[in-house]
Amino acid sequence: MPDSIASLCAKRFSLCLLVILTACSSAPRKASRKAPSPAVLSYDYVLGPVRDDAELDIEATPRDKNPAVHLRRAWVMLQRKRPQEAVDACALVLYGPETPSTQAEAYARFIRAEALTTQGKTQNGDYDRKRASELAMDQRLRDRIEDATPIVSPDSTQRPNPVGSAPQVDMHTRSEWQPAALIRSRLDPMGKIYRITVHHSAILLRSPSERSAADQIRSIQNTHMKKEGCGDIGYHFLIDPSGRIWQGRELRYQGAHARGDNNRGNIGICVLGNFMRGRDGQRPTAAELNALESLIGNLAQKHRIAAEQIFSHSDLVNTQCPGTYLRGEVDRIAREAAVPARGRGAAAD
Ligand SMILES: [Zn+2]
Repeated sequence: MPDSIASLCAKRFSLCLLVILTACSSAPRKASRKAPSPAVLSYDYVLGPVRDDAELDIEATPRDKNPAVHLRRAWVMLQRKRPQEAVDACALVLYGPETPSTQAEAYARFIRAEALTTQGKTQNGDYDRKRASELAMDQRLRDRIEDATPIVSPDSTQRPNPVGSAPQVDMHTRSEWQPAALIRSRLDPMGKIYRITVHHSAILLRSPSERSAADQIRSIQNTHMKKEGCGDIGYHFLIDPSGRIWQGRELRYQGAHARGDNNRGNIGICVLGNFMRGRDGQRPTAAELNALESLIGNLAQKHRIAAEQIFSHSDLVNTQCPGTYLRGEVDRIAREAAVPARGRGAAAD
């Protein structure tokens, strides 16, 4: 008797199980064939295989708040050998309106690392890869980061930046922004250059045009000369939202950007825009950050400037400059671009 009850129960149970399994396996499969995969921050969505050109149509506006959409787009762009677009899409996550979650940042840094390596910017790629590996929690992502094989081979048309050489920088000369004549009697010689300080102009600038940049630079010079009694614009270099680098005050003259003695031997770089939080604030563009990175890299190599000597204005005096959105980037760039302090190893012992 107990046997037959048991077998009856078992039969019923397996019948029920069969019904449940059939229901589970057939219904959702039909549904999933029609529904597009949801944009979620997962390994399968972001780093899933890139199959056809249709995926190029992923529309991610800079205002899209879901980081998964930007990250998927970045990944698709990277697979399509469009690394700069991948870098830009990652920048929307890293510097977008919302502070990224740890996992969003891990994916963004991993994809950007691959894209930068593809562009020959190995040092920057290595930094992002290291950060991604510190942040990543998904085991498959961790494994992928560990696997150092480049996903897309370096593009031979991109100029590599060999370790130890100063990055190339294209400069717009002073004459291109039509400056007012400088007042030499108000200028001091620069002396030995040993540090760099980064500022923002604290004036909103959304236009990518050359002309708006030149206008803003001229207006800064006007303020510095007429209201602050300077002999020229206070900064040595300025960077606009399209990543153009403009020559300001000549380097042979000490700058007027960091107050008093802080200006000694100190190169002043001003990134055009207002990088404070709030309604009138903006995020630095990827082009601006790339230019800042190249410029600092170039100057640090040329003048043997150590990472410890690369500052945000707020490191030197009590000020909000260069704004919340730029300050962290300056720290990152300083770590990557600066040359190691000479003799530091020997001195430490
Ligand atoms: Zn400043």
